[in-house]
Amino acid sequence: MYRSRRLSKELLSFYGLHFPYANKKKSLKRHSVTVGIGGNTGDVRRRFEHLFFYLQRDRRVDIKQTSLILKNPPFGYKEQDDFFNSIMILQTSMTPQKFLDYLLRVEKKFGRKRSFANAPRTLDLDILFFDNRVIKTKKLTVPHPSWHMRESVVIPLAGVRG
Ligand code: AMP
Repeated sequence: MYRSRRLSKELLSFYGLHFPYANKKKSLKRHSVTVGIGGNTGDVRRRFEHLFFYLQRDRRVDIKQTSLILKNPPFGYKEQDDFFNSIMILQTSMTPQKFLDYLLRVEKKFGRKRSFANAPRTLDLDILFFDNRVIKTKKLTVPHPSWHMRESVVIPLAGVRG
């Protein structure tokens, strides 16, 4: 069901049902949010598809675009499985703080357990960009710090912003 392409010794890209995806329909929601999604336990690509259907059914967000899925080695704590990462561009009228709370609830729904920093994860959702805003609060830093240094963000992003 997935086509794949080897990009380097360590990087593999996958093309599946809704990754990548583009929706031409105009959204009336106010903000454009770029969300990084990732995970490395169980069938992550299947979980991404479930997430897609979950978000598609939710009236508070419109899915505009998704990227390919990138399989890449873990950073930080190395003794764990490779990660799968992708990017979704969503439209929403929620504020950044409300949207962060929303993402944390979605993570929970998909079974995310927090253990230690950079630990294996079921589903990790990050706000990479929120319109073109710069936000620095205790709970939220946008653009997401060090996004430009991560292959897991830069490679999928190159395709959606092209
Ligand atoms: P993590 O364990 O890496 O997923 O971190 C989650 C926490 O990071 C959240 O509870 C947020 O308060 C905080 N955070 C700061 N900036 C962001 C961001 N741009 N996107 C998502 N979470 C963020």
